Amino acid sequence: MSDAYDPQNIFAKILRGELPAFKVYEDDRALAFLDIMPRCPGHTLVIPKAPSRNILDIDPDDLAYVAKIAQKVARAGKAVFKADGVTVQQFSEPAGGQVVFHLHVHVIPRHEGEPMKPAASFKEDMAVLAQHAEMLKAALAS
Ligand code: 5GP
Repeated sequence: MSDAYDPQNIFAKILRGELPAFKVYEDDRALAFLDIMPRCPGHTLVIPKAPSRNILDIDPDDLAYVAKIAQKVARAGKAVFKADGVTVQQFSEPAGGQVVFHLHVHVIPRHEGEPMKPAASFKEDMAVLAQHAEMLKAALAS
């Protein structure tokens, strides 16, 4: 399997506006949007705008910038969902658990004693995602 960046990946299509997403934050270098199969409410993905497959090929400055935005999203998610903590994950290559090949950082608000759902186990209702996106967007704009 090639480890070259594929511009037809789902997140590249979201970045180009070819597919919809529940966006919560955007600037010239990064985009954050809700995962449509959240492992917990508020599960957000932060991606760089520059094309990169994963942690193995991303420019270190882009990685640092994504981390900065992931921190903003983590703080907003903790406040909005009244969470007790936050899980941050990044998977690289199929062996590392990666399924979509544009670098993304998962930011998942967590509540004490509540396990995460298995990955890709349930597609959240669109109305719920829309409401969660509005709440996070408002928190990230303030
Ligand atoms: P990975 O295992 O590559 O780190 O995770 C990919 C993530 O993308 C999964 O959590 C999955 O639920 C999410 N995902 C897959 N397809 C879509 C989509 O079309 N839109 C959004 N927003 N998330 C997606």
